[in-house]
Amino acid sequence: TYSGPSFQKTNKIKADHIAPAICNIYKRPLVLHQGHMQWLFDHDGRRYLDLFGGIVTVSVGHCHPKVSAALHEQIDSLWHVTNIYRHPKIYEYVEKLIAKFPGDLKVVYLVNSGTEANDLALLLAKAYTGSNDVISLQSCYHGYSSTVMGLTATQSYRMPIPVPSGMHHAMLPDPYRGIWGGCRDSISQVKNSCACAGDCVTSDKYVHQLSELLENSVPAGRVAAFFAESIQGVNGAVQFPKGYIKKAVELIRKHGGLFVADEVQTGFGRTGDAFWGFQNHGVQPDIVTLAKGIGNGFPLGAVVTTKAIAEAHTKSSYFNTFGGNPMAAAVGKAVLEVIEEEGLQQNCKETGRYFLEQLMELQNSHPVIGDVRGKGLMIGLELVEPGTKQPLNSGDASEILESIKDLGILIGTGGRWRNVLRIKPPMCINKKDFTSKVIKCEETKEPIVEYGKVSKFEGFQITLENTILFPAGGGQPFDLGWLNDVEVLQVLRKGDQAIHFTQQPIEIGTDVVQ
Ligand code: PMP
Repeated sequence: TYSGPSFQKTNKIKADHIAPAICNIYKRPLVLHQGHMQWLFDHDGRRYLDLFGGIVTVSVGHCHPKVSAALHEQIDSLWHVTNIYRHPKIYEYVEKLIAKFPGDLKVVYLVNSGTEANDLALLLAKAYTGSNDVISLQSCYHGYSSTVMGLTATQSYRMPIPVPSGMHHAMLPDPYRGIWGGCRDSISQVKNSCACAGDCVTSDKYVHQLSELLENSVPAGRVAAFFAESIQGVNGAVQFPKGYIKKAVELIRKHGGLFVADEVQTGFGRTGDAFWGFQNHGVQPDIVTLAKGIGNGFPLGAVVTTKAIAEAHTKSSYFNTFGGNPMAAAVGKAVLEVIEEEGLQQNCKETGRYFLEQLMELQNSHPVIGDVRGKGLMIGLELVEPGTKQPLNSGDASEILESIKDLGILIGTGGRWRNVLRIKPPMCINKKDFTSKVIKCEETKEPIVEYGKVSKFEGFQITLENTILFPAGGGQPFDLGWLNDVEVLQVLRKGDQAIHFTQQPIEIGTDVVQ
């Protein structure tokens, strides 16, 4: 059961002591205190289906048993060594991680976050090329620090302070909102736009705009790097016209620069077709930055690059107190194992396709949905004023977000106008999570005979579909041995019945969730 501060008390602490720039996503904020796989529990014990993965951070599932066990084992043995020593877990992890990369991406730096990873990538690119200027795309997000903020091109994450010189932003090649339209590598094609067989014709136009930028605003031949996400995350799953990234990278290389692929959101199989998002674009980056899903929520990030680039960084030693500590390495290794063992990349592909199809169907009957896009489990739903392309006002969009939460489902918002609903669940989600419901609840004298599909409880017969039973206050779900321990089961979806069990005395309550 929840034993933390009351909701009111958290309001007071938030108002008095938590930095005001830290915004909670909901008007009626959630106090979350437990999680299991794709499920989260609030302070009232209410269960939520997590379709946001704590902003794409939880990759294989909240408190995944294998990942938690790996962390526990490491906690009991050694918490910390810095990179001035060696630890076997770190070495095992690095070997496993690097095996996931193609070509000569063979050298790893372990860090603690995405911002740190992109900051280091910036340094490496500048050290290797000897150039200072860098280019990223409009509306991108690469992190929040006084340096990396210059790469990030989203108003709400920029402060009016001078950022390092030489940071430029190329026009965003957005097939839905961009001036030239375009089509993308996705089952969701943009309506009223082109549907090119190979590379999208608009990609050349956007690449031309990039070349104008290189020729007019960057000292000749002195670009250090082009940074791009494989699909823009914070901006609401914006995909680029087919062929854009490949051609942009060719152009940057002609001008002497490197390509930094920010895989903080798109890595580890999330896009389904490939383990890394950049592989969907048919490019080989010079530097790759990783964070979020790499640690399933544990602070871990990485920069992966070539030997030649890493060699250019040896004029100083690299020191990072916590970067890649043994606990983070134990978690990272377990995450990679779980992705393989549970076929999560394939799941992203299949489940993602299913979601996209369902959402596109919804779009047909809901003109408020202007665009459905994404790949694998990286999905965006752009809301508009019905019948127009005008972004739905952020007030209405956040009301929609709020009511989805009240139905027991957590998703996110994003985009320049905060009018894009973002669906990026833990990769263990499955199709049934969208169909699960209590079918029937009636009196019977039968004992439990089956778990999962049809469960019978003495006194009542509960017919469940794909429902996991959780003890009161959350925690691990019961397995078949739960019979004597049942305290509370909650199934909360609109139109579903909420069922509460208590064992001593046996009490079963049901109500329909409104
Ligand atoms: N890159 C991308 C694509 C991101 O989405 C984020 C975080 N939203 C970052 C970098 C920064 O990561 P962190 O918050 O771990 O610093």
